[in-house]
Amino acid sequence: MSQEPVKRSTVLVGCTVLDGRIVEGVPALPDAAVWVRGDRIAAAGPRERVLAQAREAGEHATVDLDGAYLTPGLVNMHTHLSLSLPGTGGDGVKTMNPHELALYMADGARRTLLAGVTTVRCVAEKDHADFALRRAIRAGRVPGPRVFTAGRALVCTGGHGHESPDTLECDGADGFRRGVRSQVKAGADLIKVMISGGIAGEHEHITTRQLFPDELAAVIETAHAWGRRVTAHAGPAEVIGEAVALGLDCVEHGYELTGEVAALMAERGTALVPTLLVTRCKEFFDELGVPEWMQARSLGAGPRHLESYATALAAGVEVLLGSDMPPFWHFEGTNASVRELEYMSEAGIGPARALYAGTLGPVRWLGAEEELGTVQPGRYADLIAMDADPAAHTSAFRGVRWVMAGGRVVRDDRAGWSVS
Ligand SMILES: [Zn+2]
Repeated sequence: MSQEPVKRSTVLVGCTVLDGRIVEGVPALPDAAVWVRGDRIAAAGPRERVLAQAREAGEHATVDLDGAYLTPGLVNMHTHLSLSLPGTGGDGVKTMNPHELALYMADGARRTLLAGVTTVRCVAEKDHADFALRRAIRAGRVPGPRVFTAGRALVCTGGHGHESPDTLECDGADGFRRGVRSQVKAGADLIKVMISGGIAGEHEHITTRQLFPDELAAVIETAHAWGRRVTAHAGPAEVIGEAVALGLDCVEHGYELTGEVAALMAERGTALVPTLLVTRCKEFFDELGVPEWMQARSLGAGPRHLESYATALAAGVEVLLGSDMPPFWHFEGTNASVRELEYMSEAGIGPARALYAGTLGPVRWLGAEEELGTVQPGRYADLIAMDADPAAHTSAFRGVRWVMAGGRVVRDDRAGWSVS
């Protein structure tokens, strides 16, 4: 006879609860309580009501968050925990053996979680180490965010990122079909494909077209047949327009969108992960010793990139948080995830929509709305607390001081404690 183990029961009090539904008219709830039972949220609402519900179910602990604002953890939709850019910093990662790489990524995963990013979408990781990391996190062997991953990104021979084992070279429609299937076989939750050149490639431009329409169609059809969504590294508007018409689900970067293509994206429901940091992160590049030619290319694309972002917003394209830089990386006084969200907020969407773009929006794209992304019964208790109101100022996320993942507190600054 097996008996269900007794679930930990905790009621969080002393908090104002809010989530991305704020953009849909669900207001913040002051003097709220959240009842966490096991790894899920059992109830959220007015303090007295929730406490009564928890009492009725039996013993529980109470945690006073001391006036904090409580939101779902952030979701970073463009991460590489095994990132290695050209330069000395990247070379250090490139020369790691598989064991070193796995441990390096585990360290990044822990830092990511402690930064308040409770879910990541990995869009190209080396040597399938991401699948090992995902298993280890799920099994509780290492602390880390929930991982949705594309495995290796598909790229044409010699295409964007081909020099690293976080990509897989494919050619022709059959080759790309096989590429999709091989990543699904390895455990991919989604497919990433490079359809144009990028900043980091020495022999290409951001505008270089890299896939033919039949190759692109093969990727999208095959992925969709297996129930996987497709996101594309893409810069030029023309190439993006073709991909969107073929059913692409998400665009990364979108450095040079036009009104016409943005309108098509909005109409088709294709999301944009603008990764604004990529063209404004000199401090990060300097730290990694990224060569001048790449810095110049990257930072030079900044103004057009921002214009492109504004064009997308004006057309009504859904935008989602994604840093490209490692999500936890210390950058401009905070971490890369929060800094990206600040840029997105300041450059157009404002704090309420930024809260949505950093939590519920990504979760909906990932098809995980029943599990994550809001402070509602049934969702995983992946929660963060801060002292300022993130719906008033996105910079409030700089002050995250408490993190819960799957019902366990992993960071509590006031108690001077975090998992390590
Ligand atoms: Zn990237």
